[in-house]
Amino acid sequence: MNPVIALVGRPNVGKSTLFNRLTRTRDALVADFPGLTRDRKYGNGQLGGKLYTVIDTGGISGDEEGIDAAMAEQSLVAIDEADIVLFMVDARAGLNVADEAIANHLRVNQKKTWLVVNKTDGLEEHSAMADFWTLGLGDPQPIAATQGRNVTALIDKVLAPFPERGEGYATPAVDKGIRIGVIGRPNVGKSTLVNRLLGEERVVVFDEAGTTRDAIEIPFERRGRPYVLVDTAGVRRRKNVSEIAEKFSIIKTLEAIKECHVAIVVLDARSGLVEQDLHLLDYVLTSGRALVLAVNKWDGLESEQREKMRADIKRRLGFADYADLHFISALHGTGVGDLYPSIERAFKAATAHWSTNRLTTILQDAVGEHQPPLVHGRRIKLRMAHQGGSNPPIIVVHGNQTDALPEAYKRYLTNTFRKVLKIRGTPVRFEFRSGS
Ligand code: GDP
Ligand code: GDP
Repeated sequence: MNPVIALVGRPNVGKSTLFNRLTRTRDALVADFPGLTRDRKYGNGQLGGKLYTVIDTGGISGDEEGIDAAMAEQSLVAIDEADIVLFMVDARAGLNVADEAIANHLRVNQKKTWLVVNKTDGLEEHSAMADFWTLGLGDPQPIAATQGRNVTALIDKVLAPFPERGEGYATPAVDKGIRIGVIGRPNVGKSTLVNRLLGEERVVVFDEAGTTRDAIEIPFERRGRPYVLVDTAGVRRRKNVSEIAEKFSIIKTLEAIKECHVAIVVLDARSGLVEQDLHLLDYVLTSGRALVLAVNKWDGLESEQREKMRADIKRRLGFADYADLHFISALHGTGVGDLYPSIERAFKAATAHWSTNRLTTILQDAVGEHQPPLVHGRRIKLRMAHQGGSNPPIIVVHGNQTDALPEAYKRYLTNTFRKVLKIRGTPVRFEFRSGS
């Protein structure tokens, strides 16, 4: 599991500026679960051979309601999930009572905490630091998040105790079978579905292993084929009501997405589609994971509710329409067995290999059918295509002036490749390269 860094501090000290600098913000996942007063943002970053996750806590206001309340609701969760806390203060604003209150919390916390003094640009470092020694959180670390000054050096220092992990965000190897992640917000029925998937006829479940925080792996076999279930929040183990209240962990969800080949994203037909479903789906897609959609709690629904759910999915999940869609009842087991063929198909598409010949033929046929437009009097030429990667598949198209290719034409090509190659269940990435 990658080290997790939480950014904590009062509003306006520069947390989101630093967050954006440290992460590939394209991948950021926003936690906007009901009950949170503010959003938490999760993003991944990399420094040399080390990967990390950053949580931006949005800010502790230190207002009338009391620092304790705000802290408890928002930042404590982030601190809880983190290995490292970066407590940010503002060199320009100087020391503030809210800073002191936050520091009091952090001093009793067991987490490794760094005191980061931001906005030191244009200031004399020594005098800018002087105020903050009194917080009793060790050496103040001067940075300027907007310029990126000292940021790399700080992260390097912060990550020093953590080992290098060279494997990047690549998908795990297929040694013990297809790895399935069951993903979804709290209460959609993940735990019920996991137990169903494992409780199916002719399913043999092997040992459950794993630590408390890493994603738990459950190897099993169905009809002689090996699979590994990547359990997110220990759903399999939850047995009683009090455990159901157990905190939903975004970190574990991110980990499961990273560790699986195929994600089953579970939606709840009773509560309908909500923002958080879209965030999770978006994250699965940007991670390049193969996808199966399971609309759960389909049992006993009124027909209007069914119609509404279908319409919502059509309207809002267009970006995921290449995934197989299943309407299931995890509670009764209806439709659960049908998930397996979709999982197999999605995995097969995600790991397929196509020859350069085949891809180039598809490209040329597509171009023959519809020519790319003229740019400055010259026609954009697309010559050949080859596969640049797998899981998710990457198709690299070579030609001239490809920078000028309109989005609509790219979409046309994407759809054509998808259709001809019968790709279902996985995102496909396209890269366009010019060279003459
Ligand atoms: P957050 O509320 O803690 O997330 O703070 P933001 O990242 O939104 O930053 C608040 C303001 O401080 C913005 O106007 C930033 O441009 C500014 N800011 C952030 N970092 C720096 C810095 O290193 N130097 C200066 N001068 N301004 C900064
Ligand atoms: P999780 O938090 O996503 O793991 O959700 P759980 O599996 O704990 O399920 C949350 C609640 O939804 C429980 O009360 C389940 O009994 C109920 N539930 C799960 N699946 C179904 C279903 O298919 N139909 C109905 N009606 N209820 C379900």
